[in-house]
Amino acid sequence: MGRITLDKVTKKFGDVEVIPPLDLTIDDGEFVVFVGPSGCGKSTLLRLIAGLEDVSGGEIRIDGKPATDLPPAKRGLAMVFQSYALYPHMSVRKNIAFPMKMAGMPEDEQKRRIDNAARALNLTDYLDRRPGQLSGGQRQRVAIGRAIVREPAAFLFDEPLSNLDAALRVGMRMEISELHKKLDTTMIYVTHDQVEAMTMADKIVVLRAGNIEQVGSPLELYRNPRNTFVAGFIGSPK
Ligand code: ADP
Ligand code: MG
Repeated sequence: MGRITLDKVTKKFGDVEVIPPLDLTIDDGEFVVFVGPSGCGKSTLLRLIAGLEDVSGGEIRIDGKPATDLPPAKRGLAMVFQSYALYPHMSVRKNIAFPMKMAGMPEDEQKRRIDNAARALNLTDYLDRRPGQLSGGQRQRVAIGRAIVREPAAFLFDEPLSNLDAALRVGMRMEISELHKKLDTTMIYVTHDQVEAMTMADKIVVLRAGNIEQVGSPLELYRNPRNTFVAGFIGSPK
């Protein structure tokens, strides 16, 4: 579960083509990072995969099934929003339960999933607090918890750490990498930060103006950048 393929996917806003025809395969269980400068189309690409934007052309498949026309809730993916998307008046438990409650899931199954997520994220002692009583890192973990309980085929992160201060960011990177190992689920992670890309990714997708400049492991890109843009972006000496 968690294989995603894009076949000649394009996106136009009005007359402006921000994603020219693009092919990409994301394998089951992979940690894939979309990296590139601001405005290159990272968020748009993630939102196309999530179904939050409609494609202008091409096909998206999730685990072999056509997903291009499915609404977000039917794709089996979970987008992790920045921690400020939490409900301030609800406890951590209720914030995490919210998507399951909306889906009408039985209470005992909700409880099982909340307990699992809390354990995976070290939030067990914080379930009765409100977001305002948590640190920035803990709030970000709650936002991730809300995605975990949906048991998605893939997690989609859009610059989830950009609100956090530098020291906290380093810790959260390691936590997300550890979570990926624990859950063994596909993760797509958008960032403009090359350090994040190099330290977290199994596979990096370098984007420039909606085009894929290069795809490869951090080491492959570092050793053999295809052009000066990739080299400059990855910090390769070449
Ligand atoms: P990134 O996440 O890499 O910073 P985005 O995907 O947000 O880039 O944006 C890519 C391009 O598409 C930018 O030029 C941006 O202005 C444009 N864009 C994004 N969303 C919209 C929208 N809803 N309407 C019009 N243009 C948009
Ligand atoms: Mg963006």
